[in-house]
Amino acid sequence: MRQGIASLMVPGGSFQNRVEQVGQMSGCPYVRECGLPAGLEGLSKSMAAAYQQAYCQSECQQCARYRAGVELGWQYVPESLLPIEMERAERIIEAIKLKWAKS
Ligand code: SF4
Repeated sequence: MRQGIASLMVPGGSFQNRVEQVGQMSGCPYVRECGLPAGLEGLSKSMAAAYQQAYCQSECQQCARYRAGVELGWQYVPESLLPIEMERAERIIEAIKLKWAKS
């Protein structure tokens, strides 16, 4: 079977798998852009800490803020959007993209 050069260069798996593993180990790459880890208005310190543990330091790809920020750009992510609000993030993405398509 023919393998891509990336999988040959990385022991133990493909380049993509390695990138994903490293990303999960080091946490969310958008801490600075996002704002949540520094504290969003109206979010208690204990809730911010819980979100950081659940998303920022581990499952950032499952975060609604991550999804919207990557898809649209951080200027379109409402401060009030919580990591658990994926359906809301999808509605925001859809609305903004529709607006872009009309302009
Ligand atoms: S809240 Fe989401 S986008 Fe923001 S730093 Fe945490 S994981 Fe990343």
